[in-house]
Amino acid sequence: MFADVVERAGYGQLITPLLEDLGVFTRIGDATDVVTKEMYDFVDKGERHIALRPEMTASVCRAFAEHRPTTPWKVFYSGSNFRYEKPQRGRYRQFDQVGVEVLGADDPNLDVEIVALAWEFYARLGLQQVSLIVNSLGEPDDRNRYVDALREHFTECGDALSEQSRATLERNPLRVLDSKREIDQPFIADAPQISEFYSEGAAEHFAAVLAGLEALEIPFVIEPKLVRGLDYYRRTIFEFQGGTLDSAQNALGGGGRYDGLVEALGGPPTPGVGFALGLERTLLACDDEGVFAAEPVALDAFVVDVTGGLQAAAITAELRAAGLAADRGYDNRSMKAQMKLANRSGAAVALIVGDDELANGTVIVKPMHGGEQVVVPRSEISAHLTTHSDQN
Ligand code: AMP
Repeated sequence: MFADVVERAGYGQLITPLLEDLGVFTRIGDATDVVTKEMYDFVDKGERHIALRPEMTASVCRAFAEHRPTTPWKVFYSGSNFRYEKPQRGRYRQFDQVGVEVLGADDPNLDVEIVALAWEFYARLGLQQVSLIVNSLGEPDDRNRYVDALREHFTECGDALSEQSRATLERNPLRVLDSKREIDQPFIADAPQISEFYSEGAAEHFAAVLAGLEALEIPFVIEPKLVRGLDYYRRTIFEFQGGTLDSAQNALGGGGRYDGLVEALGGPPTPGVGFALGLERTLLACDDEGVFAAEPVALDAFVVDVTGGLQAAAITAELRAAGLAADRGYDNRSMKAQMKLANRSGAAVALIVGDDELANGTVIVKPMHGGEQVVVPRSEISAHLTTHSDQN
């Protein structure tokens, strides 16, 4: 479904490798948790320092730097990532993401376009309790001045700040704003706001993004303390939060605008914007909200063969080849046990083959949801079911 949403907007699929040179990720930024604490990296037999990918944006930028496609380059991806984390509900060491990246265009309409695509994805899943929070980190200069101001502010708080936040302050003052610790909250509330540092260009870009979201009637909340984990973000950043999830793991997905990454990976200076959505958390939200993206496969038939199983093997193969969904009982179990399985399978009909049917060359077709059973010649069973399932 995700591919359907984004392909209609001109995004092509990019499959990036599970393994990359470690350097591809360390260039994301040395001060991010993803790089410092969460990477699965190792030295291979050729003494190369390799990492299992913790995210896919860096690989997309690496591919862009290597192949130089025409711009704007609009791609989407889907696949597993790996992060060394303490596993808990909504946080795993292997998890799946879908996402998009657009490289080579600075237009605020693209920021709006990608947010709208993620919004449509959640809406098509049937999720109703998703909220969108947005912020702008300004231009790199604005952000640097802001980081200096934050460093000064939090340094003045001294030992009153939690020990963890003091350690974070050393590495990345922005991330102190992420602290959920009670003791840090008054200092975070008092901290300078990024909007005080916006240059004219950054303020205009952000205003255009907000106007674009309003025009599409996508509801959002501006959250000045949203910083997101990765160092390379500039200007627009955003996050989708699931209303039913615990607050520590409620980010369903997020993204933003970045630059410098393609350049760091050997390409020309190139603006980029993208997002990644976590699938496990999305599924948790679907569970919580009682919506399921995928209908269970509806079986057309369940074959109950009490003559040894050869008939079941032949009939299921024939039905599947005819485009029908068919399953069967195994281990030559009793009629009663196999009928129970047929019932549980949700199949439209049970096809029963006993000794008499085997001898006569027939099959009993028993509707599982009401209706009379009929006896059909074995040779006509696919044709009978095809007509029958067409009628449904
Ligand atoms: P990030 O790449 O950190 O911006 O993460 C984007 C999304 O991926 C998050 O909002 C989560 O939904 C998901 N995600 C990130 N890390 C994990 C993890 N360890 N386990 C499960 N989902 C994750």
